[in-house]
Amino acid sequence: MSTLQDLLAAVASGGIEVVDLTAPLSEDTPILQLPPPFANTQRFSRSELSRYDERGPAWYWNDFTTGEHVGTHFDAPVHWVTGRDGEDVSQVPPRRLIGPAVVLDFATEAAADPDFLLEVDHIRSWETTHGALPDGGWLLYRTGWDARSHDSDQFLNANETGPHTPGMSGECARWLAEASPLLGIGVETVGTDAGAAHSFDPPFPCHSFLLGADKYGLTQLQNLALLPPTGAVVIAAPLPIVRGSGSPARVLALVER
Ligand code: MN
Repeated sequence: MSTLQDLLAAVASGGIEVVDLTAPLSEDTPILQLPPPFANTQRFSRSELSRYDERGPAWYWNDFTTGEHVGTHFDAPVHWVTGRDGEDVSQVPPRRLIGPAVVLDFATEAAADPDFLLEVDHIRSWETTHGALPDGGWLLYRTGWDARSHDSDQFLNANETGPHTPGMSGECARWLAEASPLLGIGVETVGTDAGAAHSFDPPFPCHSFLLGADKYGLTQLQNLALLPPTGAVVIAAPLPIVRGSGSPARVLALVER
């Protein structure tokens, strides 16, 4: 059999499981909330055009409105000023939308400290057990935050000092952007940066360094707990919005069982 026939046979038999890493997209999907004077994105919303009625007797359809950065979504380089001359989301080569993924699990640490930051040493330590980060692949950063995504307040976890959600240090973001072979980073939180990253130097270092290095971000992933530390293949499929800075995306993982 051919490689693709082998793949289909394995999917059909359950030898390869397809795990959906995408959060359901609805009016309840939590969104990033920036403080004044910054502009904020719109929630997902929809208006019904017809539902088997006089407006369209045999068909149901809606219009919808959404920000580019709502729910599980893809950050393209042009999203950040450091990547302003880079790819928009329609220009990301299809070849880069499928690649290997590793999962680094810091859910215990993030449960103990919602401001937990991933550091280069954490990754180096992980590599001694699991091997090097994958060339052209994703680092999927598990924090357990997907369990909060049904509740906007829990998910954003903000108080009078701002949002408190896990992320990575500026040094770690710089290292991943400049020294690692990765394609990008995927997170369970509302953005790739930590909740407190507005106060980092530079601010929002994950966005600043990775998008500036022609790498990508994936946010609000779920089900990372179902993936092995190494060996999964991720398919990330944003809409090719012309000149778009990002897009809601369906993100799937293939896992050998
Ligand atoms: Mn984004």
